[in-house]
Amino acid sequence: MAVYINDTCINCGACIDECPVEANVDEDDNPTDEDIYHVYADKCVECVGYFDPPACAEACPTEGCIGWSDCADGATCMENRGEAGEPVIE
Ligand code: SF4
Ligand code: SF4
Repeated sequence: MAVYINDTCINCGACIDECPVEANVDEDDNPTDEDIYHVYADKCVECVGYFDPPACAEACPTEGCIGWSDCADGATCMENRGEAGEPVIE
């Protein structure tokens, strides 16, 4: 269904322009009010049909900052994705 950004995000901005579906927002637009970047789960397609691995995680300089969340039934998910909670890139 999506990837998520955890609180190790340093707000560097490297991910935001990489997303092909504009699912990433910066801390000012984070709907959770956390002072970190955010991925809208209902927009993220895990880069299926665009990139492998997911472009935001590839661009992120912070180790393990972007992780997999659950793959909901009927959602667009990568075939070789990790389990929920695991980093997208180790
Ligand atoms: S995995 Fe791809 S579609 Fe999802 S937020 Fe990252 S760059 Fe955007
Ligand atoms: S690239 Fe990583 S550290 Fe930088 S803003 Fe995006 S999630 Fe945060």
